[in-house]
Amino acid sequence: MTKFEALGLDQSLLDAITDLGFESPSEVQEKAIPILLENDTDLVALAQTGTGKTAAFGFPLIQKIDSKSRTTQGLILSPTRELCLQITNELKLYSKYEKGLNVVAIYGGASISEQANQIKRGAQIIVATPGRMKDMINRGMVNISKIDYCVLDEADEMLNMGFMEDIKDILSNTPDEKFTWLFSATMPREVSTIAKKFMHNPQEITVGAKNSGATTVQHEYYIVGGRDRYPALKRLADTNPDIFSVIFCRTKRDTQRVAEKLIEDGYNAGALHGDLSQNQRDLVMNSFRKKQIQMLVATDVAARGIDVDDITHVINYQLPDEIETYTHRSGRTGRAGKSGVSMVIVTRSELRKIKAIENKLQTEFLAKKIPTGMEICEIQLYHLANKIKNTEINEQVENYLPAINDVLEGIDREELIKKIVSVEFSRFHDYYNKTKDLNTTDRGERSERGERGERSEGRGRDKAEIPTSGSVRYFINVGERDDYDWMKLKDFLKDTVGLGQEDVFKVDVKESFSFFNTDVEHSEKVLSTFTEFKVDGRFVNVEVSNSPGGGGGGRGRSGGDRRGSDRGRSSSSRSGDRSRSRSADSRGGDRSRSRSSDSRGSRGDGGYGAKKSKRRY
Ligand code: ADP
Ligand code: MG
Repeated sequence: MTKFEALGLDQSLLDAITDLGFESPSEVQEKAIPILLENDTDLVALAQTGTGKTAAFGFPLIQKIDSKSRTTQGLILSPTRELCLQITNELKLYSKYEKGLNVVAIYGGASISEQANQIKRGAQIIVATPGRMKDMINRGMVNISKIDYCVLDEADEMLNMGFMEDIKDILSNTPDEKFTWLFSATMPREVSTIAKKFMHNPQEITVGAKNSGATTVQHEYYIVGGRDRYPALKRLADTNPDIFSVIFCRTKRDTQRVAEKLIEDGYNAGALHGDLSQNQRDLVMNSFRKKQIQMLVATDVAARGIDVDDITHVINYQLPDEIETYTHRSGRTGRAGKSGVSMVIVTRSELRKIKAIENKLQTEFLAKKIPTGMEICEIQLYHLANKIKNTEINEQVENYLPAINDVLEGIDREELIKKIVSVEFSRFHDYYNKTKDLNTTDRGERSERGERGERSEGRGRDKAEIPTSGSVRYFINVGERDDYDWMKLKDFLKDTVGLGQEDVFKVDVKESFSFFNTDVEHSEKVLSTFTEFKVDGRFVNVEVSNSPGGGGGGRGRSGGDRRGSDRGRSSSSRSGDRSRSRSADSRGGDRSRSRSSDSRGSRGDGGYGAKKSKRRY
């Protein structure tokens, strides 16, 4: 007897389960299915996304429905159109050997009369979003006065989305004698209100830690200066070359801005927020599903429908106001049995929020360090080596080999490897070379020079301070691209500012920008010369740089530019890369993780029935 048979399921379902390839029930299925099959009872089930809740209610529901009757007997409410369609499709697969059983999906944004027609033909099970359901009830297009079972799926999300009133209205159109099965990842106050008001002595099951993120999610935080959020984000991405992530911002504006900057910096990124049209959002989601977008920057509201299983990282660019929201965010990763990482970028002053989340979720965060530029270079180097190793040889190159061999003649294996690796490595190396540590020190917040982005954060430019003695290092926005080498640039500066031969030193010309030094006494002259200074109609800008005197980090887009560089990666290399980069990370003094097993089952104080739930920190 298989484990599914032991749950008491009929042969037609067992056959469908075999076809689906499910080998054994998940925990929520194992707990919920026997209860629902054996008793007629109300049920509250708390389980994270990706734990198999659809089958947990779907199997018993299908078994209990009388498919010979055309009456609507089961209603499933679900928060979004996407989830609604997903559940409908799953139920159709589960019930493929159940003759005469019709499952109909009802959701906004599609023809209401077409949906009404499908119901007229007989729908024993309706899967609906609350808004459209209410609409159809009001128009008399659907009759739910005889249902036996009502499932509230993702109840917390539905209530989060403001469907409380709609749900109450809908439930008031259903018979009192029906049984209600409520499934939710978390149990905020609104959900317990619904449970109290509409359910009778529900049995309760909990999978994993109540109110906590899925146990397969590792929670990490990184302390940086407030202005370093963006460069920190870039480093986290560069440390995880195969990242497939959702990045959460608090506002639509930040969401758009961060996405734009990532795109500008060459990442495969996209924005998802409420100011986009439905059509635009669909396009973004499609690209994300196809992994053309690796970094989806989203608001909490817009991210609600995301049903993508293999998200490797959730990055909290900013922490949300409410702890429940953090649970929703981190639940986007670690789904369907895969492990995931939820990263939080915080400032020192936000640390108490981390503590609050730890308490509420009964989980522990790892304090991690933003990798240094050199660590990232190392990771990228290994990534590249692995990528080369795993690349399938395209037979078409055969034709070009004689010519290529001519070009590369006389280079031995060792040198060739060095050269190949340098092609890509140099971009990161040039960019990260000599950049500073982003982790805040006891001196409090500081900002990293030499990384693009933080200067355009809009909160006023954070000019470096001019020292009182010694020499000053400057950044200037001309470089090799503008036909300068160090001699030409030195001459140009000397002549334009009116300085002597020895006054300009440590000139370092990069591709699209350069650095140079003068003694402090000349700094005013240098800076005033280059206010509103144009050459050939183009502004030439000079700013004081915080780079260490001798060098200067890359500021241009050339380094760290990953445009197209990750195309064609194989998913098999993903897990390998992640574990490797994690072990590289762990060098950075992690707090060791100790999690006592008994703390996991305990109720957070926002637990079911608790008075206070929308917790602020
Ligand atoms: P939830 O509703 O809890 O987020 P789903 O019901 O959507 O989770 O299930 C997540 C994924 O796991 C789906 O792709 C589903 O087909 C699969 N799944 C569900 N139950 C099992 C099982 N017992 N064995 C293998 N895969 C399963
Ligand atoms: Mg679900």
